[in-house]
Amino acid sequence: MNKQILLDNLRVIPDWPIKGVHFRDVTTMFKSPECIQELSNAMYDLYKDKGITKIVGIESRGFVLSSAAAYLLHAGIVLCRKPGKLPCETIQQSYAKEYGVDTIEIHKDAITPDDVVLLHDDLLATGGTMKAACDLVKKFHPKKIYCNFIIELQSEFPHARDIFDKDIEVTSLL
Ligand code: 5GP
Repeated sequence: MNKQILLDNLRVIPDWPIKGVHFRDVTTMFKSPECIQELSNAMYDLYKDKGITKIVGIESRGFVLSSAAAYLLHAGIVLCRKPGKLPCETIQQSYAKEYGVDTIEIHKDAITPDDVVLLHDDLLATGGTMKAACDLVKKFHPKKIYCNFIIELQSEFPHARDIFDKDIEVTSLL
């Protein structure tokens, strides 16, 4: 994988959405055809032998590469969304955020016990969002769960991976 082209196309926005946060803006990578190719091929290389049947994209930046990787891996895509966005019956998971509680949901018929599931989001910070998504997917009792991120903020959140159950394999591309 050509990491340099990805880093060259990543935009950092200082003090957004609040002062002190340096937001990694992946939209500048998403608009580059070369970056989309690098990222989706990297995901394919990581998971081509894992028998992935469903990719769960986390709203909303997680949807982008989930689609490209699902095409390459011949897997289906499942949307993990904020409440009220999915039209049919859902299973939900709530989790604590810095201020208050958030909820995410997946259609009740989206995952079966035969599935091998790859969850994907753009960025791992504290891990709270992905941990909630993993807990939600566990309610469907799939055969195996993998987690993948484009970016992991390892130096800022060195213990983020510790919150995931030990049977879940976590990877990041950058
Ligand atoms: P966590 O739950 O790991 O603390 O935060 C990760 C979630 O917040 C992801 O869904 C991600 O999209 C979003 N997020 C937090 N910080 C950033 C950032 O700097 N850049 C981007 N692109 N997303 C972020």
